[in-house]
Amino acid sequence: MLVVMKALATEEQVRAVCQKIEKLGYRAHPMPGATRTAIGITGNKGEVEQGTLEEMPGVQEVIAVSKPYKLVSRDVKEENTVITFSGTAATIGGPGLAIVAGPCAIESREQAFTVAERVHRAGAQFFRGGAYKPRTSPYSFQGLGEEGLRIMAEIRQQFGMKIITEAIDHESLDLVEEYADVIQIGARKPVLLKRGMSATLEEFLMAAEYILSEGNYNVALCERGVRTFADHTRNTLDLSLVPAVQRLSHLPILVDPSHGTGKRNKVTPLSRAAVAVGADGLMVEVHHQPDQALSDGPQSLFPDQFDELMTQVRQIAAVVGRTVPAIGVREPAAVSK
Ligand code: PEP
Ligand code: MN
Repeated sequence: MLVVMKALATEEQVRAVCQKIEKLGYRAHPMPGATRTAIGITGNKGEVEQGTLEEMPGVQEVIAVSKPYKLVSRDVKEENTVITFSGTAATIGGPGLAIVAGPCAIESREQAFTVAERVHRAGAQFFRGGAYKPRTSPYSFQGLGEEGLRIMAEIRQQFGMKIITEAIDHESLDLVEEYADVIQIGARKPVLLKRGMSATLEEFLMAAEYILSEGNYNVALCERGVRTFADHTRNTLDLSLVPAVQRLSHLPILVDPSHGTGKRNKVTPLSRAAVAVGADGLMVEVHHQPDQALSDGPQSLFPDQFDELMTQVRQIAAVVGRTVPAIGVREPAAVSK
């Protein structure tokens, strides 16, 4: 259910409707829009009694949302969600593309700083790197854990890039929350939710709905390829998901062509395609010595290739009316977390 407030409804009226919803035993999710506020209702098993809410001052209408996902839906919030960060102009979901780059995993201080320096210089505003790695084999490198997070915090300090890293379970989540700016899946911080490798569009949006229904609206989605019969790539990058998501949801969507293809030579072409199709940003793996990488070397770009990717993406972005951050501008205020 969705309560649509009148354009001139006061904050007090919005508050009163939220209180009423909570009193009825449900959860209220006020979503301020450009012209009006909508209030999503979750926690109801069946229909909420519409009349009571409809009568309240400031209420325009109460409508049933027929789709299983509600808070992620454009029915609830028409405008795009733009995730902002303190101390930087970088956003996820704004007119500028969000460029996330870095190695698959943080392997050492030297490796992380070498890659960070290069991707920052090329224009990335977000640095990625796994401190905890979900691996198929127990014998593969599992990540540096907290030491990896500490290295990333130093990178934020030095370059002003915001840090995106993955939490893989409850234990790692607490530590990742402490150090990162965006959690790949997670809690109170902005969350980058990657599509499951066999998730349908609806399942993906429902996974996001879980996070929003707990009260965190700063969620960005990420297409990273799905499993198909094709064996010329690691996964099949499903770029048609981008416009499909944008039609139904206000959440930003990034594309990860590194895991999406698994092949270095396909990362730049698919990055161009992702920007052309309307993605809100890219997440790309970069390593200065991919042949020695402890994970995902074959899909990691050399820094020079990332420079070239950014040059090409800049041109495509202009065609679709998007901007790409200027090359390596250090925002002085960006040092603070
Ligand atoms: C990653 O981004 O490092 C990663 C493990 O991605 P995915 O979950 O998409 O395989
Ligand atoms: Mn990886």
